[in-house]
Amino acid sequence: FLSGKSAIVTGSTSGIGLAYARALAAEGAGLVINGFGDRDQIDALCAELAAQSGAKAVYSDADLMRRDGVEALVATGVHTFGGVDILINNAGMQHVAPVEEFPVDKWDAIIALNLTAAFDAARLTIPHMKAKGWGRIISTASAHSLTASPFKSAYVAAKHGIAGLTKTIALELATSGVTANCISPGYVWTPLVEGQIPDTMKARGMTREQVMNDVLLAKQPTKKFVTPEQVAALAVFLCRDEAANVTGANLSMDGGWTAE
Ligand code: NAD
Repeated sequence: FLSGKSAIVTGSTSGIGLAYARALAAEGAGLVINGFGDRDQIDALCAELAAQSGAKAVYSDADLMRRDGVEALVATGVHTFGGVDILINNAGMQHVAPVEEFPVDKWDAIIALNLTAAFDAARLTIPHMKAKGWGRIISTASAHSLTASPFKSAYVAAKHGIAGLTKTIALELATSGVTANCISPGYVWTPLVEGQIPDTMKARGMTREQVMNDVLLAKQPTKKFVTPEQVAALAVFLCRDEAANVTGANLSMDGGWTAE
């Protein structure tokens, strides 16, 4: 149902962003892929997505911590597809440290990537969406857009910011055919999370199961990881015409974490 439409997915060379890209391609959308990684693998991914969608899939290596990186990313979308119909703000990073010791460069980097890049990408794509009277802005927020954990000041501040930015954009664009929403996952099974398990097993003298249940999933009542595909399926729903009245929402997919 997305044939003829184009999407920019930030941070889509891995994890949740990759799942968004695959899900949108399966519905026929043209894609701009972005993020870091092995160039051969990324070229193979673009070929896979194009074969799946029957539309173009191109890669932008833009560093979204830089404002001119976001500008270059959006320019790639506009140049390739003549506009941008769907923007998924997903690239993000984390750093864990007490607030009084939090490295100021990490604070700046997290705010730049997790929040400011979303503002800039929205700012630059909205005119194209308005011109067509249709658009979707979807951001990967987090359970940490609704609640906090210690030692994650920059991440929690940026994710709360994404939720506020989303509401504001939704109100400004309410009559334009463009919706803005965020999805707030709990722990999602991505290579990022998987990679933490062996070190945590060693550090805490725990089994793999103990690390998953007592450390990672301690906050998640279902005791199950969210999958990237589940998050992507919600984003696909938000692109449907049936979701035209879902705007300004912060949709939790966190196994009950924020219900507590
Ligand atoms: P990931 O590390 O697997 O993917 C991050 C992506 O962002 C990669 O493609 C990476 O190359 C890209 N990226 C990193 N720095 C970038 C930069 N400067 N410019 C452009 N791209 C850059 O992570 P993930 O787990 O898939 O997380 C994706 C999003 O989901 C993030 O916003 C994260 O905060 C959010 N999230 C993740 C979880 C989780 O448990 N994994 C939970 C809630 C929210």
